[in-house]
Parts: sequence; structure tokens; C-alpha cells
Amino acid sequence: METKGLLEKLLEMPGGEQILKCIQCGTCTGSCPMAQIMDYGPRKLFALAKGGDFEQVFSSNTCWICASCYFCTVRCPRGIKITDIMYALKRLAQAQGYTPKEKSAYVYQAFKEAMEEKGRLSELKMMQKYYMKVPFDAFRNVSLGLKLLAKGRMEFKVEPLQNLQGFKKVIEKARELEEQP
Ligand code: SF4
Ligand code: SF4
Repeated sequence: METKGLLEKLLEMPGGEQILKCIQCGTCTGSCPMAQIMDYGPRKLFALAKGGDFEQVFSSNTCWICASCYFCTVRCPRGIKITDIMYALKRLAQAQGYTPKEKSAYVYQAFKEAMEEKGRLSELKMMQKYYMKVPFDAFRNVSLGLKLLAKGRMEFKVEPLQNLQGFKKVIEKARELEEQP
């Protein structure tokens, strides 16, 4: 793949230039609910992109499994719109002919199913759903999962959204609109 000039292209995209403000503090990766199953957390991904290593950026699953939760964006001390940069990287990857790895599609599916069940994200539920599809990864990450639970970084029980029925109706409506020609 020709990767020359991709950093310049990223910098020209809306919000893309903000990547230059990154101080590599790691707050984003520390806040990211998906970091444990990403090939690189957002901090490292940005370091690779800033260094022009787009082979690594695009061959990783990171931007594809970003759940767009915006946790990183609201916490970044430099005010970088990290989630928007994830979208910009996806667009750039697609323009170069890169498509997500199969596992990344499973993560997206697990996220969607977990969200639809309670109207808010239960990381534990999402992990359960993901590992049912990719059980080998569960064995690799079980000790990390236990540590996160022990430190309260993942909750055993997440209360459903108060107006869960309303939330489900919104999702149904969105699906209807999506299916319209
Ligand atoms: S939180 Fe912001 S400044 Fe810190 S590593 Fe992430 S993107 Fe960079
Ligand atoms: S928006 Fe994406 S990168 Fe940022 S914390 Fe959420 S999942 Fe992680």
C-alpha cells in the first residue's frame, strides 16, 4: 500500500490536524472501554499516525472497534476530538482499500446487542457477547478481565435505561429509515 502523504491527508480532514496536539498522556487509552481488545489503544494509534506509520494504523483493529462512546474525547486534556479522528482514520483506510478484520465486525455486533439490551453499555455484557463469538480470545484475556472487575473498572450489574421502551422504539425507527430506499 502506498502510505506516503497520508499524514498530510489526515491533517487536511476536519479535526484531523488536532492529532498534532497530542502529548501522549494516555488518558484516552485509560478511559477507553474497548482498549483491552484493541490492537493499539488510541494513544499508541495516534503516535503511529503522527509518525506516518499508516501500515500499522490500518492493519490494526483500533479505529474499527472504536465504539464512539466519546469517553476519551471528553477527558482528553488537549481537547482533541479523538472520536472524530477515529472516523477520519476509517474514511482514510477505506479510501486506501482497507476493510475491517472479521473480529472487528464481531466487536461492533457485540456492542450493538449489549446496548440494545439495556439502553446503556454494560462492558461485561459486551465482553460476554464478543467472547461467545471468539472464545479463544477469552482465554487470553481472562486474567485481565478479572483484574478490571476487581478494580471496579467493569461493573457486574448495569441498570437498564429508565425509558428502555422509548429507546428501543428509537432504534426500530432508525432501522426502518435505514431500510428505506
Ligand atoms: S488523551 Fe489526548 S493528549 Fe492524551 S494521549 Fe490521548 S489524544 Fe493524546
Ligand atoms: S470513543 Fe472510541 S477510542 Fe474513544 S474511548 Fe470510546 S471506544 Fe475508545
